[in-house]
Amino acid sequence: RLSTAAALEELITPPVKIEHTKLLINGQFVDAASGKTFPTLDPRTGQLIANVAEGDLEDVNRAVAAARKAFDEGPWPRMTAYERSKILLRFADLVEKHADEIAALEVWDNGKPYDQAATDEIPLFVRLFRYYAGWADKIHGLTIQADGPHHVQTLHEPIGVAGQIIPWNFPLLMYAWKVGPALACGNTIVLKTAEQTPLSALYVSKLFHEAGLPPGVLNIVSGYGPSAGAALASHMDVDKLAFTGSTSTGKIVLGLAAKSNLKPVTLELGGKSPFIVCEDANVDEAVDLAHAALFFNQGQCCCAGSRTFVHERVYDEFVEKAKARALNRVVGDPFKKGVEQGPQVDSEQFDKILKYIKSGVDSGATLETGGQRFGSNGYYIQPTVFSNVQDDMLIAKDEIFGPVQSILKFKDINEVIRRSNATPFGLAAGVFTQNLDTANTLTRALKAGTVWVNCFDVFDAAIPFGGYKMSGHGREKGIYSLNNYLQVKAVVTHLKNPAW
Ligand code: NAD
Repeated sequence: RLSTAAALEELITPPVKIEHTKLLINGQFVDAASGKTFPTLDPRTGQLIANVAEGDLEDVNRAVAAARKAFDEGPWPRMTAYERSKILLRFADLVEKHADEIAALEVWDNGKPYDQAATDEIPLFVRLFRYYAGWADKIHGLTIQADGPHHVQTLHEPIGVAGQIIPWNFPLLMYAWKVGPALACGNTIVLKTAEQTPLSALYVSKLFHEAGLPPGVLNIVSGYGPSAGAALASHMDVDKLAFTGSTSTGKIVLGLAAKSNLKPVTLELGGKSPFIVCEDANVDEAVDLAHAALFFNQGQCCCAGSRTFVHERVYDEFVEKAKARALNRVVGDPFKKGVEQGPQVDSEQFDKILKYIKSGVDSGATLETGGQRFGSNGYYIQPTVFSNVQDDMLIAKDEIFGPVQSILKFKDINEVIRRSNATPFGLAAGVFTQNLDTANTLTRALKAGTVWVNCFDVFDAAIPFGGYKMSGHGREKGIYSLNNYLQVKAVVTHLKNPAW
């Protein structure tokens, strides 16, 4: 058990024991029906952390049956909203109490820096559940003035069993974005974690039951996408599907939902977000923000500012300083204090990123720094900066999902608007300027679900997040996320004596 930050400095072994590796169905940890397991690996070394029960069609069926029963017969949707809210609050308290172990588990499975997990992500996770606990007893319908002798009201009801599929880059935050609103609204859940990072969700879900969550309300199935994930997306008894992952998988799950029971689907998908540095920018500040916008979480962010557009007047200075900042980035064991960048999550992502770097070099972009693996063990990659990137290069078009900054030059605002929007994605954008008119023009013209002005990656629980175009459907977080988990029923009652 980790006690002080100082202990991290010399840390070699993650300070947490792996206790939960089975599927969580109906409040019990159980083996997969097939008895199969799959390995989850340490990205620092590629070595085994644990073998985890591998859920499949039969396990998804069992989990959905438990969630169905908990919804149709169980206390959860019938509890007072205040009681549900108290369980969410107790859960948040328990996560806070075990924050050290949870952060260690997240880092071990994913490779992100410990400081980031412990000081940013776990507190935000807790904040998200307290935020949704606050919503639980504030969900209500409307009374509506309609023509004719009728009293009209709407009831906002939970949808039923929610299927949720999450990725590996922010295992806990993605859990919170999905589980928080679904439970606050009174739904029950089957959640499939990413095969790369199954551990933290099992740990915290155990705490949820300690906080008083009834069995069957939240079921966790670890396993692979084409088996467990596809079974969930196609299930006839799942009433709603929420998915975060790549655009190509988003298309598959939307198709599976359509072919089965037409369940409504929310999708949070990929991006190729522009970060625009205008001519009036303070270059030092812009360099730091653009660097964080791309390199945060090893570049494994759906909203990474992965096209850094820089005005020609400040371009040369920016490139020089961006290169210097990347050279200073501290890469190393994510359990060591002061480390800014750990390994990529697995060998597949590692190989994919190195291929993109090669394609950048082959297509004629200037490799300013980086470009190689870092060290000789694990999945570390040098912070990499390309300048002279052109719009038609693969590194400017595809989501690399790694520590590779692509810098592009622009001349005027209309040009940068056109080029920023010339992508099938529309998740986020960053604008860096002191000029109010420039900021207003860009925020209105950019086709993106979030525009950050003179900031980036601000993820408050109340701020909605989601994509335009092929970056997805619907919004998560904030008040907007509740609609994903509610049915609206219109109740129209005839009035015998409308005069009263
Ligand atoms: P992925 O789409 O392969 O996997 C995401 C999840 O989908 C995993 O749980 C996986 O097991 C599951 N899955 C895979 N194939 C499936 C199938 N056929 N049916 C059902 N489920 C299936 O994505 P990835 O490469 O593991 O994750 C990175 C991607 O996720 C990036 O493209 C990134 O942009 C995206 N992402 C988006 C957001 C967002 O909020 N928009 C957040 C995080 C990650």
